Amino acid sequence: MADEIIAVKPEIAAKARIDAARREAMVAAAASDPDAFWRAEMGRIAWMKAPTKIKDVDFGATSGNVSIKWFEDGVLNASVSCLDRHLATRGDQVAIVWEGDDPNSDAKVTYRELHARVCKLANAMRRLGVKKGDRVCIYLPMIVEAAVAMLACARVGAVHSIVFGGFSPDSLASRIQDSECTLLITADEGRRGGRRVPLKANADDALLTCPSIRHVIVAKNTGGAVEMMEGRDHWWEAITAGEGTTCEPEPMNAEDPLFILYTSGSTGKPKGVLHTTGGYMVWASFTHENVFDYRDGEIYWCTADVGWVTGHTYIVYGPLANGATTLMFEGVPSWPDNGRFWQVCAKHKVNIFYTAPTAIRALMRDGEAPVKKHDRSSLRILGSVGEPINPEAWLWYYRVVGDSRCPIVDTWWQTETGGILISPLPGAVAQKPGSATLPLPGVKPALVDNEGHILDGATEGNLVITDSWPGQMRTVYGDHARFIQTYFSTFKGMYFTGDGARRDADGYYWITGRVDDVINVAGHRMGTAEVESALVAHPAVAEAAVVGMPHEIKGQGIYAYVTLKAGIEATEVLRKELVAWVRKEIGPIATPDAIQWAPGLPKTRSGKIMRRILRKIAANETEGLGDTSTLADPAVVQELIDNRVG
Ligand code: ATP
Ligand code: MG
Repeated sequence: MADEIIAVKPEIAAKARIDAARREAMVAAAASDPDAFWRAEMGRIAWMKAPTKIKDVDFGATSGNVSIKWFEDGVLNASVSCLDRHLATRGDQVAIVWEGDDPNSDAKVTYRELHARVCKLANAMRRLGVKKGDRVCIYLPMIVEAAVAMLACARVGAVHSIVFGGFSPDSLASRIQDSECTLLITADEGRRGGRRVPLKANADDALLTCPSIRHVIVAKNTGGAVEMMEGRDHWWEAITAGEGTTCEPEPMNAEDPLFILYTSGSTGKPKGVLHTTGGYMVWASFTHENVFDYRDGEIYWCTADVGWVTGHTYIVYGPLANGATTLMFEGVPSWPDNGRFWQVCAKHKVNIFYTAPTAIRALMRDGEAPVKKHDRSSLRILGSVGEPINPEAWLWYYRVVGDSRCPIVDTWWQTETGGILISPLPGAVAQKPGSATLPLPGVKPALVDNEGHILDGATEGNLVITDSWPGQMRTVYGDHARFIQTYFSTFKGMYFTGDGARRDADGYYWITGRVDDVINVAGHRMGTAEVESALVAHPAVAEAAVVGMPHEIKGQGIYAYVTLKAGIEATEVLRKELVAWVRKEIGPIATPDAIQWAPGLPKTRSGKIMRRILRKIAANETEGLGDTSTLADPAVVQELIDNRVG
């Protein structure tokens, strides 16, 4: 597949915050004197005491210990950057546009109202005894209360740990236990795609094994019946009713924790990623403003859930720190119909739209009509995050959704990185469909071989980051040894991402998938992303997942799971055609040895394909499938096991 290049349009470059020349100047400045660069950038958030020290980092190359500190003598409160400092200039501006699951329900909350609601809850939390450093679990649907709860925790210095509302009682319990939360904030029920999610009932189940929880605050959302335990459970309305609308923000050191968030579990047991206050906030603001080229007055919509890091950084902290209007969506892309995303874009005149490849691929299955039905002329920038976006899906997003007008920012990052690290800047970097392109100023990626030698030029290898950036995670909660072991022991002195990547002659990065997923066919290393993209480029294919399987001669063979587009029949002829297609697109070395039709693929709750499970099915090792607690639909797995090929 020849790499297509989509140049920056002159009219976009002319108006962008950052054009190519400015980007180059920033990259040079951040490289030559990082302290000076970040000293200038730290002014984008509000400090109670401005830091004098900027960066103090040891990746453990010689010491064996890893210590990451940014702005370490600064004092601040994250909620002040997101709320208080905007009151004088934009108190009456809408901070959050809320769009309900039901297309007829929505709400707008101004900065002034949001500030008042946060303060009331923060006061109530203090009265319940919540203090600086205490952990608070948030298990809420995508309602405004979720943002209020996060900011109220920040206000009193409590460390929030959000658990996605789709998780089961067991998953909720293990996360509460791991960080010993003392308060849980939840709702009676959530709504998703017209169905109700019994959040409080799930929480009650979970709390049977969570002795650390002393109080539960329950938001009334649907009005569904719930049980309330006397002394432990409090209605949000009631407990905040008598509280004042101002609240003294807790002074926090820059390195005091802001939140814990468990990774999505694509590769195994979720890790409790800990982020601190100063560096994270600077990174959230810096990346949100520059990657999305955010302008005052624009409507910005990230479709993620606040239960994922994308929701933390790009629905709440980044946009609110920048005084943006951020849209929060309670629903799903497919309900009441699969034009919902575009209907919401038209309704609220969305300018910047940020979603995941899994959603794009699902919507592609139904063709262009549901998109074209709605007015998308307000859209200016499109974004993608979460998985490699196949060039085919990228081009569909670009041409159909963006009418070939809107630059796409394919943003590579992780829960661990706090914010985006590799992405085009829309006014500065030409795009190649399927490539996350170039690192942001101040980010130093490298590719290394399996011995840790840095590889130069156009090459492929393990993606590492060789120096720190302010938004980097600081530790695994309660287990610093696991932090060092997971991220800094594979390659000494470097942060190992776990991802593989290719770098082309222009220095562009192409994420090839998790390193664990790399397939080695007769000595040829291949990323799963490449073979999947070839399959998805076939007109009959909606989605594909590729894994290695044991092969007597080649060492590993290629096993592909293929989901067909709506209305396409799975035939032997088509199977042969797909095998020939991949041979032609990539080469004989990539010829699939087996293709299994998959009506559905096992995905994490955040929509990522769980290849480790598919690997086991392909190898016919279906006994120990490992941690499946973050699987969205366990039934899919049995279906695949029953219809295994070979
Ligand atoms: P776990 O670490 O528990 O296995 P996870 O890695 O899926 O779960 P996240 O932190 O949510 O948890 O996801 C980060 C990963 O998502 C990256 O390491 C990468 O594999 C993938 N990813 C994110 N954005 C992109 C992108 N734009 N292009 C390619 N891959 C991406
Ligand atoms: Mg990960």
